[in-house]
Amino acid sequence: MSDKTRPTVVKALPFWLQTSLVGFVLIHVASTVFPFAVGVSVKSLMLCVALYVLRMWGITAGYHRYFAHRAYKTSRWFQFVLACVGASSLQKGPLWWAGLHRMHHRWSDTPRDIHSPRQRGFLYSHVGWITSPDHDGTDLALIPDFARYAELRWIDRFHWVPFAVLTAVCFAIDGARGVVWGAGVSTVLGWHGTFFINSLAHVWGSRRYETTDTSRNNPVLALITLGEGWHNNHHHYMNSAKQGFFWWEVDVSYYTLCALAWVGVVRDLRRPPAHVLRDKLVGAAGFASSKLSGARASAELKLIEARTAVGQAVENAGERFNEARAAVGTAASEARTSLENAASEARVVMGNAVDNVTLAAETRLTEARDAVESAVESASQAVDSTASAKN
Ligand SMILES: [Zn+2]
Ligand SMILES: [Zn+2]
Repeated sequence: MSDKTRPTVVKALPFWLQTSLVGFVLIHVASTVFPFAVGVSVKSLMLCVALYVLRMWGITAGYHRYFAHRAYKTSRWFQFVLACVGASSLQKGPLWWAGLHRMHHRWSDTPRDIHSPRQRGFLYSHVGWITSPDHDGTDLALIPDFARYAELRWIDRFHWVPFAVLTAVCFAIDGARGVVWGAGVSTVLGWHGTFFINSLAHVWGSRRYETTDTSRNNPVLALITLGEGWHNNHHHYMNSAKQGFFWWEVDVSYYTLCALAWVGVVRDLRRPPAHVLRDKLVGAAGFASSKLSGARASAELKLIEARTAVGQAVENAGERFNEARAAVGTAASEARTSLENAASEARVVMGNAVDNVTLAAETRLTEARDAVESAVESASQAVDSTASAKN
C-alpha cells in the first residue's frame, strides 16, 4: 500500500530518512529543550492547553468518530472544518488516519492489526507504527465514502497546512514562546494522548464487554483524550458517537457533539441501543461462570461426601460381615464342643447303664443259677428220700 502511494523522491532516500522518525524525534527534542530557552508565560500556557483541547477534539470527534466511524452526520462545510482541526494536530490527513483506524477495528489484536501491543509490543503500538514507512501512504480504498470529496483528498495530501497556519497564529499571539508552547509542547502532548489509545487503552484498564480484542476502559485516558479512554465500550460498539456509555463515564467529545447537535451543526448522533449495553457483559459471563464453578464445586463436594459415605458403609458392612463370621465360627465351635461334651456324657451314661444292666443281669443269672442248683439239689434229695422210703 505505502510503496505505491509514497512519492518517488521519498522512495529514493535512505531508509532511515524515509521514515517520519527523524522529524518525530526532532520535534520531541525541540519541545523538551526550547521551553527552557524561551521561558513560559500565562498566554503561552493557555495557548498550550487550549490548542491541546481543541486539537484533541479534532482527533476524537472529527478523525475518529466522524471520519473513521460515521457516528453522526454533518454538512459538507463542517466536515471540512473537522478535517482541518484534526490535521492541525499533525497526525497526517483525515483519510489516512481514518482509513488505517478502520483497519485497526477490522483486525484488532490479530497479526494484521497495525498497532496491536499484543502483536508487536507496547512501543511499536505507541509510536513505532506511525513513524514506520510501512504506513506512510493513504489507501483511498479503505475509505471510499470520504475519498470522493475533492477537498478531503486535498487536505489529506497537504495535511501540514493547518498546522502551519496554527504555528503562525501562535507566533502572532505570543511570539517564539507561543510557537514553542502552542505548536510544540501542545502538539507532542496531543500525540501521546492519542497514541495512548492505541497502546495503553489495550493494556491498562478494565473490561466491561467480552470483545475479541484486548481493549480496556480507563477513566484517566478518558479524561486526557476527551472520552476516548472508554475504549472497551468503543470496541464493543464502535459506531457510537457516545463512548462513555453511562453517566459517570465522562466523555467531553460527546457532550460537545450534543451541544453542536442542539445548535444544528451536526445531527443524527448514534448512541448504543439498550441491548448493546447489556450484551456480552464480562461481569455477566463472570457471574455465570462463578455460579457454574460454585455449582460444580458443590457437586464435587457432594460426590466426595457420597463416595466417603459409600466407602464407610462398605467398610462397616465388611466389619459386620467379619463380626458375623466370627460369631458364626464361635457359635459353631461352641456347638461342636457342647455336642462333643453331650456325646461323651451320653457315652458315659450309656456305658454306666450297660454296666448296671450287665451287673444286674449277671446277678439275676447267678441268683437263678443258685436257685436252680438249690432246686435241683432239693429235688435230688427228695428223690433220694423217696427212694429210701421205698426201700
Ligand atoms: Zn483499539
Ligand atoms: Zn475506533
